[in-house]
Amino acid sequence: MASQKTTKYIFVTGGVTSSLGKGIIAASLAKLLQARGFSVTIQKLDPYINIDPGTLNPYEHGECFVTDDGAETDLDLGHYERFLNISTSQANNVTTGRIYNNVITKEREGAYLGKTVQVIPHITDEIKRNIYSVAENNEYDIVITEIGGCVGDIESLPFIEAIRQVRWDVGSNNYLVINLTLVPYLKAAGELKTKPTQHAVKQLLESGIQPDILVCRTEHKLPHDIRKKIAQFCNVNVNSVIEAMDADSIYDVPLLMRKEKLDERVLAKLKLSHKIEPELTQWKDFLGRLKNPISEIHIALVGKYIELPDAYKSITEAFIHAGTQNETKVHIKWIHSEEINENNVEELFANMHGILVAPGFGERGIEGKITAIKFARENNMPFFGICLGMQCAVVEFARNVLNLKNAASIEMDEKTKNPVIALMPDQKNITLKGGTMRLGSYPCELKKGTKAYLAYGKGKINERHRHRYEFNNRYLQKFEELGMIASGINPDSNLVEIIEIPEHPWFVGTQFHPELKSTVLNPHPLFVRFVKASLEHKILSESN
Ligand code: GLN
Repeated sequence: MASQKTTKYIFVTGGVTSSLGKGIIAASLAKLLQARGFSVTIQKLDPYINIDPGTLNPYEHGECFVTDDGAETDLDLGHYERFLNISTSQANNVTTGRIYNNVITKEREGAYLGKTVQVIPHITDEIKRNIYSVAENNEYDIVITEIGGCVGDIESLPFIEAIRQVRWDVGSNNYLVINLTLVPYLKAAGELKTKPTQHAVKQLLESGIQPDILVCRTEHKLPHDIRKKIAQFCNVNVNSVIEAMDADSIYDVPLLMRKEKLDERVLAKLKLSHKIEPELTQWKDFLGRLKNPISEIHIALVGKYIELPDAYKSITEAFIHAGTQNETKVHIKWIHSEEINENNVEELFANMHGILVAPGFGERGIEGKITAIKFARENNMPFFGICLGMQCAVVEFARNVLNLKNAASIEMDEKTKNPVIALMPDQKNITLKGGTMRLGSYPCELKKGTKAYLAYGKGKINERHRHRYEFNNRYLQKFEELGMIASGINPDSNLVEIIEIPEHPWFVGTQFHPELKSTVLNPHPLFVRFVKASLEHKILSESN
């Protein structure tokens, strides 16, 4: 069943608890293998029943990451892209819902005619088909598949059974299981405890899987005797017990894993020769600058899901990349949009050097966002609006500069007389919620001489979208006459993708999500310029 005999399959499972950082460990291992010259990709299998996380509230599952091909995916795919500097796609994230949907669709089409459709073999076969399909084009030497959730969860069972079977399909030399586990420290006893790990591995063994490597999350160093104990009780070599201490930055983890020789263990077990040392010069260079900033700035991030910073994961990571490029530490002040009003706006933003208004959905907090934008526009404070943030900047400009007092997005006011943000005709009859927005990568042409053009240094770009509403071109001429221009246009549909105010030091809004394409090696140019403008604003305000 395996499509490529030579592809190596690594599975990353988790035991004891969720949230151990399987995504970061998988991405770090992939980085190390990539740095040794292997082509690697990572896939995430999520055990929940939604077809994709697109319909999930950010409070439930953090940000929804969008790929070039328009898939709405788990935020771990963002980490994979930021670490590996490669694009992922729908194939890189599969949920139980999608697996069942595929099987049920096939059943209705008659693909299993006469047969009883069951979890084993039909669901497990479909899971395996999705694992192998990532390697189909022979593009990758190694595919790492992360299994979401925790071993022992009822909903993970079909995934665990499927990966057990993979070993028999691909052969034990091409197959490896890494189990992440927690080794807690009991303060009262002054001891690290191995029992939860022993039980978690036992649970995997009950499912027929012997993990090859154990990565142990811990707050204290793992002494040799503890490693030995874990090795003995879990049937692994002592050098396959890997310590994963809490790190200052997720970007330290590849080097920590290198120190623990995780990559060497993996390569040895997969019988891959590893003559080349990992080439991590650029990565280390990034870390050097990250840890030794010359300046610091404060950016206000205005949003409505700020209680859960994971809801804005790609934005905060993009600031880390762009800050590092500018040798500047970016401090983020989270401001709840519902908190902002005319009376407190000045005080709230007084010590800020730039304002970013975040993406979002629905009416809650809109007026606060508009108030923050007005403040940025009138006070020459650098402003960056993303998706809903850009739409709010358009509404603010319409109300306060074009003098269209009732201007609104029809998302907030269906009956407004001035729908400056509206639905495109081909979207009007859509009633389904899942997967029906403008999703994925679209081309955009930049006008020469604009801030956008200057940032990208070229005229043709592609960026990722996730939204339903658009700038209403009926108003464009009026906007441009009064000082807000469209600096980026979709060449196929003529839709406005970027707005900016040329007279302002840095006021840019994008209908797309630039944060989704920022990586360690390629910080996003608009974030880099926004940080630079905020730094200049700081210098200017301090000299006044
Ligand atoms: N709610 C807006 C729309 O659907 C903006 C979406 C977003 O910010 N991602 O168009």
